Amino acid sequence: MKAPKAAKPPRHWADLKASERVDAVLAAGLPKFRAGQIDRHFFRSASDDPHTWTDLPTAVRTQLADTYFPTLIAPLRVQTADEGTTIKTLWRLHDGNLIESVLMRYGVPGIASSGPGRQRSTLCLSSQAGCGMACPFCATGQGGLQRNLSAGEIVAQVKAATKDGPLNNVVFMGMGEPLANYKQLIKALRVMTGDMGLSARGITVSTSGLVPRMIELASEGLPVTLALSLHAPDDELRNTLVPINQRYPVLDAVGAAFAYFEATGRRVSIEYALIRDVNDQAWRADALADLLKGHGRGGAWVHVNLIPLNPTPGSRWTASRRRDEREFVARLEKRSIAVTVRDTRGREIDGACGQLAAGERSD
Ligand code: SAH
Ligand code: SF4
Repeated sequence: MKAPKAAKPPRHWADLKASERVDAVLAAGLPKFRAGQIDRHFFRSASDDPHTWTDLPTAVRTQLADTYFPTLIAPLRVQTADEGTTIKTLWRLHDGNLIESVLMRYGVPGIASSGPGRQRSTLCLSSQAGCGMACPFCATGQGGLQRNLSAGEIVAQVKAATKDGPLNNVVFMGMGEPLANYKQLIKALRVMTGDMGLSARGITVSTSGLVPRMIELASEGLPVTLALSLHAPDDELRNTLVPINQRYPVLDAVGAAFAYFEATGRRVSIEYALIRDVNDQAWRADALADLLKGHGRGGAWVHVNLIPLNPTPGSRWTASRRRDEREFVARLEKRSIAVTVRDTRGREIDGACGQLAAGERSD
């Protein structure tokens, strides 16, 4: 599952640990306090252009911009839906690879399609260019893996989103399998929760079930929310829907998710894309409930997130019938499993779950 060799992205301030940032300013002949000043500008304000940081000497600004603030992601195309409250951006990386991120605003006054409740925003970002996991219902999985993103490239997507206002939630549900890019993921999470001040509880890392990495994540002291993309309660079907299941079967994946809950106290999300006549039978809902309850706490350690399958090019599958979806929900609720059906925001701009496929490169 190694990423193909590719040109490394340029090193960015966001790729450095706090101690390395201090070393960097000292090496540039600057006093130590400049590191904190630069951190505040880059991580806590909307500006990412050192030339505008006027409390730094002009020469230092230029020097910094050249050395530590290369442009990592450049917008190629922006598409909006839901009256402008869903914004999908296609980004070009330094080597021509493409990724996408989607910003969703909720509860915007006067815009019904942004949904009810208080005003908040969620960024769905990418952790890899492409994905090597080959799930057949997912557009990203069809193109294979181009390469891992650097921590700087992950953080750059967050930084871009904060320019439009405060960001409440970040979900790693764009392109890529975050746990297959573990080192850069952890680095990015530390920057996001530490330097940028985002709440770990508001961050969701979604995985197809890389069991050893799920266990490792539980010990990082980063209480982010874990989402396990299960999609089937039985190995026979999951082997085909999520091929990594052949290495880490259902019981191991759900066991690791439960261990994550026990270690962090964070309720785990179980993602389940409802696919018509494939995984939406009532008996599978019962089997799912039994599986989740079987791990303990009467199943109160999970929250099931049902996702009506989003259409992807060339796929013969489609979303479940409304009555099958209702029955599936009812069966879970009857067994006291917390369940919600996810909205399909961004669907018409191919910005919904599993529709992100930047496809071709841009050189
Ligand atoms: N690779 C990670 C995270 C990115 S995918 C993972 O698989 O968890 C984010 C979510 O979108 C996953 O739950 C994934 O299973 C789901 N998904 C993929 N394709 C989809 C589709 N066509 N319709 C609905 N959900 C989909
Ligand atoms: Fe990769 Fe997730 Fe898509 Fe599977 S669903 S191919 S793991 S992005």
